[in-house]
Amino acid sequence: MQKIYVKAYGKINLGLDVLRKREDGYHDLRMIMQTVGIYDGIEIRRVKKSGIHIKCNVKSVPTDESNLVYKAAKLLMDEFNIIDGLEINIEKVIPVAAGMAGGSSDCAATLVGINRMFNIGLSETQLRERGVKLGADVPYCIMGGTALAEGIGEKLTKLSDAPSCKVLLVKPPIDVSTGFVYGNLKIDENTKHPDIDVMLKGIENNDYKAVSDNIGNVLESVTIPAYPIISEIKEDMLELGADNSLMSGSGPTVFGLFTDEDNIAQAYKVLSIKYPDAQIYVTELV
Ligand code: ATP
Repeated sequence: MQKIYVKAYGKINLGLDVLRKREDGYHDLRMIMQTVGIYDGIEIRRVKKSGIHIKCNVKSVPTDESNLVYKAAKLLMDEFNIIDGLEINIEKVIPVAAGMAGGSSDCAATLVGINRMFNIGLSETQLRERGVKLGADVPYCIMGGTALAEGIGEKLTKLSDAPSCKVLLVKPPIDVSTGFVYGNLKIDENTKHPDIDVMLKGIENNDYKAVSDNIGNVLESVTIPAYPIISEIKEDMLELGADNSLMSGSGPTVFGLFTDEDNIAQAYKVLSIKYPDAQIYVTELV
């Protein structure tokens, strides 16, 4: 195979709970992960020039060894003695540093793409074992769909598809460091934890209201006070007819769940005018 194209889907967290800080500095999490319909395109091509050459349409994304796509390609090429030169073109659509696991998803798609292109024959489980070395969200991005993620995010349980709905994504033009958010998170008796178990039941019963009513993200307690625009966007969405709205991951992307097509179309219009520098998408759960 001379080239391959793989879609790298973005994710939102329908639920994100932090149970405790661990000795090793990581946090034990309990998250409901959900793929959404916007994706980056990853095209991998054999080229004459040896080495791994990354290209990306977004300037702020590094194209050197620090790119997770580079790391994914290198990991498999080293392990399976692949000596071909590769050019990997990342066509980004998923907002960068947004809480939507864009980099992790690109990384996952690269592992999947190289495995296929070179007929390596690794199973999904074997790819996930390699993915976790590159990032806690990478195994989930390989799996996709609706899943419960525990541990640091790598312990995955596949769930039935969440009840379908439309999703409005708004990424305001601010950068939020994931390190800042976890570094300033305090988990104590006052922490308001989302009810992940109720949401698991809701998903099992295909009960949209139970899911929509119970979305929650413990990281909002850090990100929102630092960036109040996030709660403003959440409120805007509710006023514009969202069934509920929440920050994804460590932010700053806000998502709104909608069942009414007219409402989401109108919300898209209104928020595009109010936040002209935001990245805004209408999509769905996939
Ligand atoms: P998460 O939801 O996992 O916290 P995120 O949406 O917050 O992810 P990313 O979009 O993955 O964040 O980007 C975080 C940083 O990672 C970027 O600022 C960028 O420098 C770096 N990075 C490395 N590889 C990539 C990639 N392929 N795409 C985007 N960013 C990348």
